[in-house]
Amino acid sequence: MERTLSIIKPDGAEKNIIGKVIERFESAGLRIAALRKIKLSKEDAKGFYIVHKERPFYDSLTDFMSSGSVVVMVIEGEGAILKVREIMGATNPEDAAPGTIRADFAANVEKNTVHGSDSPESAGFEIPYFFPALDIC
Ligand code: ATP
Ligand code: MG
Repeated sequence: MERTLSIIKPDGAEKNIIGKVIERFESAGLRIAALRKIKLSKEDAKGFYIVHKERPFYDSLTDFMSSGSVVVMVIEGEGAILKVREIMGATNPEDAAPGTIRADFAANVEKNTVHGSDSPESAGFEIPYFFPALDIC
């Protein structure tokens, strides 16, 4: 059993496809272990994506992530980290495989609808960034 942190980004919440995104994860056998809809401040977004602080897109990305509400969730299941990444599709929707969330819903490489932890180490940082242990079941 593995846990990962996923976010439905502001473009996904704005398009009213929260249910459709969650359906993709649930129908792959994954379970939602925690879930909240929140609005990130610029500082919240910068802290979350701190690994990208030297990247040219960091400022624009953190503006985007704090531009509207998001849904943060802990997803669990066997191999959840990799499974969620597969269901999301490649970062750039132009490269995302057909049938993935990003291929079906994302506008571009920045407004790409979902986030998913990319490793156990990332999940270990990202899950407690939003959820105390007692809020995950
Ligand atoms: P995420 O971490 O959000 O799950 P990812 O792991 O597929 O996405 P990363 O390389 O970690 O991709 O980039 C984090 C986010 O930064 C991307 O999801 C996207 O929103 C944004 N981003 C990445 N590359 C670019 C780029 N070249 N231009 C603009 N935004 C980008
Ligand atoms: Mg990433």
